[in-house]
Amino acid sequence: MQESSHKDGIASGADTEASPVVSAIKLLRKAFPQLYIACDLCLCAYTDHGHCGIVRDDAEHTIDNPASIARLAQVAVAYAKAGAHVSSPRNWGALPNF
Ligand SMILES: [Zn+2]
Repeated sequence: MQESSHKDGIASGADTEASPVVSAIKLLRKAFPQLYIACDLCLCAYTDHGHCGIVRDDAEHTIDNPASIARLAQVAVAYAKAGAHVSSPRNWGALPNF
């Protein structure tokens, strides 16, 4: 199994060097140095539960907003280090209490 296809509860594969987004950003920056790169922050492709956030271990499996935001921030830093100019989650409206 490739690291980028690994899925778990915290979307570990979202910000690894093998992440398809991190790899794509690096390739784009190299091929098109003047290109403005804006990325969608998304965890659902990397979680084993399919939600775009960190799920609490409670009966309702609710989204843990603080943990989700912290994890999205980690992924945003990885995208920035890879060369992205902007990263933004599109799921703010989907997170309760936001
Ligand atoms: Zn998502």
